[in-house]
Parts: sequence; C-alpha cells; structure tokens
Amino acid sequence: MIVARSGAGASSGRPIDRSRERPLEAPLSLERRNALRAELLAETPRWYVPWAHLLVPSAFGIFAIAAAIASIRDLRPLVLLTVPAVYVLANAFEWWIHGAALHRRHPLASVLYDQHTPKHHMLYLTEDMAMRDAREYRLVLIPAYGLFLIIVGQIGAWLALTWAGAPNVAALYAATAIAYAVSYEWLHFSYHLPQGHPVARNPIIRRLARHHAIHHDPRIMQRKNMNVTVPLMDWVMGTTVDRAPS
Ligand SMILES: [Zn+2]
Ligand SMILES: [Zn+2]
Repeated sequence: MIVARSGAGASSGRPIDRSRERPLEAPLSLERRNALRAELLAETPRWYVPWAHLLVPSAFGIFAIAAAIASIRDLRPLVLLTVPAVYVLANAFEWWIHGAALHRRHPLASVLYDQHTPKHHMLYLTEDMAMRDAREYRLVLIPAYGLFLIIVGQIGAWLALTWAGAPNVAALYAATAIAYAVSYEWLHFSYHLPQGHPVARNPIIRRLARHHAIHHDPRIMQRKNMNVTVPLMDWVMGTTVDRAPS
C-alpha cells in the first residue's frame, strides 16, 4: 500500500508495534494521490453499493429518532433542555475522539485511525476535497456497521434510562444523539461533494466545509479544526484556524 507513513519500518519479521506510528504531516503530490486513489478504489469489495452505504444506516437512524420522539408522553418543558445538553456533549465528544482515536492509533479502535489519517486525509487536501467516484463514499462515510453500532448503543442507553425511570429524558437523549451521528455523516459527506453540487453551494454548508477543508491540511490535521459538524468545541478549546498555513 502506498499509504504514507513515517516512523518504524517492518524489516525484522516481528509483529510491528504501530501504536506510536506518526502520520506523514506533509501533503502528497498529485501523482502520489492519484496512485493512492487508484489503489484504494481497487480495494472496493464487489458487493459494495455506494447509495446503500449512504442511505441505509441513516434511514435506520431516522427510524429510531422517530420511534424515540413518538414514545414521549406528558413532556415537561424543562426536560427539553436534554436536547441542547446532549448536543453540546456530543460536540465535545466529536472533538475529543477525532483527535484521540482518528488521528492517533488507539489499540482498541485502530480501524478508526487506519481509515481516517493515512487514507481519508492523504487523499483529500484543503484545495482538493471532492470525491470523484461513488465508490469513494467508502473513503468518506463511517463504515456502515460503525453507524449501526453507534445507533444501537444509543437505543441501549434509551432503554436503560427508561428503565431507570426517566423515559422522556431517555427518548430525547436517544433522538438527539442519533440525530447528531446522522448529521455528522451527512455534513461530512456534503463537504466532500464536488463544488458545483447544489448542496455544496449552500452558504451554511460552504462555511462548515471550509472549516473542515482547512483541517485537511496535513500540517495541522492533528491539532486544528477538530469538529466536523458545527465548530463549537473548536471555538471553546481555541483550536479553530480560519486558513491553512502558507
Ligand atoms: Zn473529511
Ligand atoms: Zn481528521
């Protein structure tokens, strides 16, 4: 695999400890990115259906959100505060996990790093963010099983909180957390659409996409613009930059 790595090599035949692997923090040339793109696309399984990857896990999420909202009874206005509270927590979690597991190889979730830093980030750069082929959905979207696991986990929390005696808090928690995960998926996807696409031309999407595109500069990707949805926690933590280094 051409995927760019610096750090320990693999010559001794012993298992490689890649936990301290450092990513390459320099942009690849267009030639190397073209080769990487061809290599990654060639790895696409024959059974892969791009539109199903985009729609099926999200449809499951939307169904779960609708079920959670439909379960709400006798809602007290104060309980509605669950929604902003969960949103802010989810935003903080997104910021944290992006740096902690997508840009650092965590032994319990190395797949997150492997998909994100040496593949997604090496392929798409600040000024060249667009997918060129539907098979690239695989290189942008969360793996389908990952989004299913996230949604099922939130359904589990919903059931547990309901059992603990707070059914409306539980339902609003689950609806907000799942909506957050689905919004992450769709927003990130829209940032990697061709610039002329009607969704990409929306002024709000364009602004959010710029924030993420700057994060795609390999020189700052480990530290800056770590929110992918709304850059709330980047603002709180002082990790926002509004232009890539020159
Ligand atoms: Zn991206
Ligand atoms: Zn990243």
